[in-house]
Amino acid sequence: MNILHMTSEIHPLIKTGGLADVSRSLPVALQSLGENIRLFVPGYRNLLAALNDTHEVMDSFPYGVLPAKARLLAADLPGSSIPLWILDCPALFDRGGGPYQDDEGQDWPDNPLRFGAFCRAAAWLVQNQHPSILDWSIDLLHCHDWQTALTPALLKFWHCPVPTVLTIHNLAFQGNFSASWINTLGLPAQEFHLESLEFHGQLSFLKAGLVHADAITTVSPRYAREIQTPQMGCGLDGLLRHRSAALSGILNGIDELWCPDNDPHLTHHYNITKKAPKALNKAHLQQRLGLEVSPQAFLVGLVSRLTLQKGIDLVLDSLDDMLADKSVQLVVLGSGDLDMERRLAHWNSRKPDQVHIALGFNEVLSHQIIAGADLFLMPSRFEPCGLAQMYAMTYGTPPLVHHTGGLADTVTPYQPEISPRRQQGTGFVFETAHSYELKSCFKIAKSCFHNPVEWNKVVHNAMKKSFRWDRAAQEYQILYNKLLKLT
Ligand code: ADP
Repeated sequence: MNILHMTSEIHPLIKTGGLADVSRSLPVALQSLGENIRLFVPGYRNLLAALNDTHEVMDSFPYGVLPAKARLLAADLPGSSIPLWILDCPALFDRGGGPYQDDEGQDWPDNPLRFGAFCRAAAWLVQNQHPSILDWSIDLLHCHDWQTALTPALLKFWHCPVPTVLTIHNLAFQGNFSASWINTLGLPAQEFHLESLEFHGQLSFLKAGLVHADAITTVSPRYAREIQTPQMGCGLDGLLRHRSAALSGILNGIDELWCPDNDPHLTHHYNITKKAPKALNKAHLQQRLGLEVSPQAFLVGLVSRLTLQKGIDLVLDSLDDMLADKSVQLVVLGSGDLDMERRLAHWNSRKPDQVHIALGFNEVLSHQIIAGADLFLMPSRFEPCGLAQMYAMTYGTPPLVHHTGGLADTVTPYQPEISPRRQQGTGFVFETAHSYELKSCFKIAKSCFHNPVEWNKVVHNAMKKSFRWDRAAQEYQILYNKLLKLT
């Protein structure tokens, strides 16, 4: 079947988080199962600059479809044979900064127009599948997150029978904007009500998709249950309960690029049967970051967006305690909340022998931290799936996580009372998002580290876990088949 995925991020062209990884890996895995996949993405300046070879599919969209002059371009996604369709609309996407924010970290004020146009273009392509226009017909549209979520609504308004799937990668990002955008985006005013586009007096992209998509998925089974509760439903739990028959959770996998045995960013390769070179990656990381090169040091790594969601405040509140032990070293790579960045940087200057804080986005360093650290910190308050903890386990770096969402679905808790022989743990898990729980969990992890038999068993269990994309892709395939038979 022919499936069009639409997404606002795609690795390796444009990435702010896990969405970019999934947007690449899932289509690649579906393609290996024999599905015919294309991707539709906005033509950001950086994305177009990173592509060598694009060609024009349509020199314009018909009058009235989009708010500005736009073309449809095509290229291959680098490193794959997935065809990309690109919405080249310079007025909306040819600018510096990131996909959603300017260089100062402020949301682009015309985001509703930018992603509204992206959704209108996608809906138009799905609805106008005439061979004289496109060489490819679309059997099903798979949308990812709020930036794409207006599309299922538009298709319903336009009475288009092509089925749609909307995947929620993070319910906290909803794309809620002033109701005045309804007119500007050419949306039917009569749809601005509680059961369609309206959410607390605003236009909500995500809600529109949740109401109108034929199927809704989230990226882990536990998160699919959590978002139906008032505590974690971000105000949309009632709607999600109402749509529970259409809602399911499919755990993400991780891309084969994340493999310690052939990762080009590592100085030394290793695998589950040859673990020794992991220690050389640790030494390399310590040396690169100016920390004492010591196998005995307990090297703790964190690679994350620096936000409340990721529990970075819990880490900050625990650092006094954690770093009181001089044998603990901490390496952080991330960017985000300016106050958190400042507080982390403060630790860098307070304990330069023990702490290295790298602010910014650095793909190479992220791989080296995940491979070189002993323990990977990921105490997210909520976590739709989380990829980094799965990378960490694959790289033999047990994660320390909060028991929530995809973290709970992927990390088997270490149980200190169980003998190493029977130990199933792949990481360290605390129940409630409080720094005192994080601190006591950290102490358990540290004492496990100092008992090599126990530690090696946890590392081994972690590396044995499989997070293959083909399993997830098969689950999506079943869902697609169901939808196509239903319509
Ligand atoms: P989220 O998508 O919520 O940010 P995930 O764990 O699902 O969290 O995915 C985060 C991805 O982004 C991982 O691939 C992680 O390694 C990467 N990442 C996060 N911050 C950085 C950074 N500062 N530099 C490099 N990679 C990062």
